[in-house]
Amino acid sequence: MSARIAATPTHVIGGHDFAAWRSAARGLIERGIAPDQIVWSDGDAAMGDLFAVADAGAGAVPEAGTTTAAVRVSKAFLALAKNAILHRDPARHALLYRLLWRAQSEPQLLRDTANADVRALDLLVREVRRDKHKMRAFVRFNPVADPDGTPRYVAWFEPSHHIAKANADFFVGRFNTMRWSILTPDLAVHWDGARLTTGPGSARPAAAGDDAFEHLWLRYYASIFNPARLKVGAMTKEMPKKYWHNLPEAALIPDLIAGAQAREAAMVSLGRSGDDRTAPDTLAGVADAVAACRACPIGCNGTRAVMGEGPPLAALMIVGEQPGDQEELAGRVFVGPAGQVLDAALATAGIDRSAAYLTNAVKHFKYEPRGKRRIHQSPAAAEIDHCRWWLDAERALVKPRVSLALGASAGRAILGRTPSINRERGQSQTLADGTTLWLTAHPSYLLRLPDDKRAAEEARFAADLAAVVGVCEG
Ligand code: URA
Repeated sequence: MSARIAATPTHVIGGHDFAAWRSAARGLIERGIAPDQIVWSDGDAAMGDLFAVADAGAGAVPEAGTTTAAVRVSKAFLALAKNAILHRDPARHALLYRLLWRAQSEPQLLRDTANADVRALDLLVREVRRDKHKMRAFVRFNPVADPDGTPRYVAWFEPSHHIAKANADFFVGRFNTMRWSILTPDLAVHWDGARLTTGPGSARPAAAGDDAFEHLWLRYYASIFNPARLKVGAMTKEMPKKYWHNLPEAALIPDLIAGAQAREAAMVSLGRSGDDRTAPDTLAGVADAVAACRACPIGCNGTRAVMGEGPPLAALMIVGEQPGDQEELAGRVFVGPAGQVLDAALATAGIDRSAAYLTNAVKHFKYEPRGKRRIHQSPAAAEIDHCRWWLDAERALVKPRVSLALGASAGRAILGRTPSINRERGQSQTLADGTTLWLTAHPSYLLRLPDDKRAAEEARFAADLAAVVGVCEG
């Protein structure tokens, strides 16, 4: 490529929008403007999407250079440049342009790992990727409500680079059905369940220090902290101190480390399965013990235990299978899609959800990672049988007069055998303690049905719930 000699340097104000950089760079290459004829300056945060090209002094926009060939750019370079443009290094635009310019005549340039520019690019990309990873790991949502009362989860995060928007797809995939906002000093990203929007940056919100929210995280962190796997060096490397001030759980770390040995011993004893265990005598005690339970593989998978909730002496106990993805994140039973089906059916049947105690046969979320998603896996019979001990402990304290088991896993947890829902639903059974059990389908079964079958099954589900309300009132 032969470049036109420009009398005056070309000034480009760069931002961190990749498409804009690409189009500006393409125009410059097409005009044959060599890297040393360009003065790049970094736009501020407000100019995130702006790439403005202007000549210094009285010069007009440079004429096209002698090159008419299409701009050559490899997929590998594009992938790296997409990340590098997000770095805060003000020299990144010039670096990327130098590489793109040279790549026109040296297509193998990126393979030259001894080249200083190639190495500099690699460093920028690694730092941006690391920052994205940290954001995924350390964003902490705080439950609030929109003005119309709809729940929204708000998180505050201070990225090192301009990654908030580029990282948003991860959070959309992970928290797709929630409304959320991630606030950063440069930019806010909002998801309303269907649309992603951005807004201006903000200062650290007071809500991120909210007591109830922090308490939730403290419990969560303490519950997933596995002292048996403690490696202090690796932990502080993965959770650099820089992020600690935004992480409520960071305050726990010194004590958790100090108490790790004692907790490991307690965990072994709490989590062991055997008949010589004594059940805690309060629901809060059961919650703590469940959180420490590692008696089966699901308990050891690093997810948080989700304890039942509701009035401590509820007449009706509703038992599901296990927490799902959203229940695990929120730390609450039946808040995801199956919970919405259940809520609607309970409302139709005239059952007040808040008057019932809702829990699950299995207290941890069993899943298989698939890409960014966690796909539900049914618990094995042995896993239900391990966890039954905790359901029994809840039942002994709540003493429900009527239990409603949703699906075969819940039925097994109460009966000690796997029932046939089809055969046994719609009729009550009297349990050994004299209380009543009703079985019905699990609401997620309704969610999986094709449209033409759903209405009939919803009607059966509603009829089962209506029968239960009659018994509760009787
Ligand atoms: N499915 C269940 O069985 N329980 C929950 O809490 C959520 C989904």
